Amino acid sequence: MKIKVYKAPFIENITSRELSNDKLGVFESFVEGLKDSSFNLSTFYNNSKTVKYIEDNNIDKGIFFSTGAEYELLGNKLRYKKSTCHLLIFHELFHMASTKIGNKIIYTGFSQLDPKNNLAFGFGINEAYTSILDERYFGSKEKQEFYVGVYQISRSITSLLEELVGQENMEKWYSEADLPSLIKCLSRYFGLSSAIRFIDCVDKIAYCNEGYYNPIMSVIWYREAITYLGRAFIKKYAIEFYLNDMPVLDYLDALSIVRNIMDKRIVYPIPFKIIKSRKYTDREFERDVEIIENKLIKKYV
Ligand SMILES: [Zn+2]
Repeated sequence: MKIKVYKAPFIENITSRELSNDKLGVFESFVEGLKDSSFNLSTFYNNSKTVKYIEDNNIDKGIFFSTGAEYELLGNKLRYKKSTCHLLIFHELFHMASTKIGNKIIYTGFSQLDPKNNLAFGFGINEAYTSILDERYFGSKEKQEFYVGVYQISRSITSLLEELVGQENMEKWYSEADLPSLIKCLSRYFGLSSAIRFIDCVDKIAYCNEGYYNPIMSVIWYREAITYLGRAFIKKYAIEFYLNDMPVLDYLDALSIVRNIMDKRIVYPIPFKIIKSRKYTDREFERDVEIIENKLIKKYV
């Protein structure tokens, strides 16, 4: 499948920061909670004025898995169940605050959908990051318990991704539905086709309900995604060491942290057999570091 990535339409500066149409009484908390973040609230102000509300107390009783609240991208509708609304609504507000529609494509956070051709890209990282933001800014003990097991693998990959590219960038790009900037940043670390492949791996894990439906392939996708990230971290620290005078002991410390990240394995208990992702060996790690260092030295030193 050929993956296309589009540039989201530019949203003009909002004219009014007035919060109207706040049927559930949550808009002010949303804005207040994000005031010190790098989240661009323009799209939130625009969409909140026209969002429609649908109370649906059977939302989690359908054939398909639903958590009990939904944001309908195309119709700008919040669908929710009264009893769980308080717990789930901020996650959906993040979707609303990061959704733009233009030239037949739906842009939502780090995800892009082409409904006509039935294509979607970036779903995994988008859902994972939405959950990370929801817990970061509107977390509670109840929510923490709710999120156990939800997008668990995607979230662990995505929080490492945030560490690599920086929280400020991630929050800004997500809120502006700016997937191309994330890809551009990743491309600098491991090339364009691997950046696309990395995002695709997380999509596949999320589509398999975090590996529940296909544990064997999921451990392979996980290993692939974590290897891209690990190599990017090695490159980041090698640049610090060779070009920006990072002290040698700090460099070695940083590498051992990366080694731990890359060594992390996921285990799925399925009947009769425990599926484990392949072990990443010391030899492989040393080889990765050597290749990255040699490239850098050749280029700059
Ligand atoms: Zn969601």
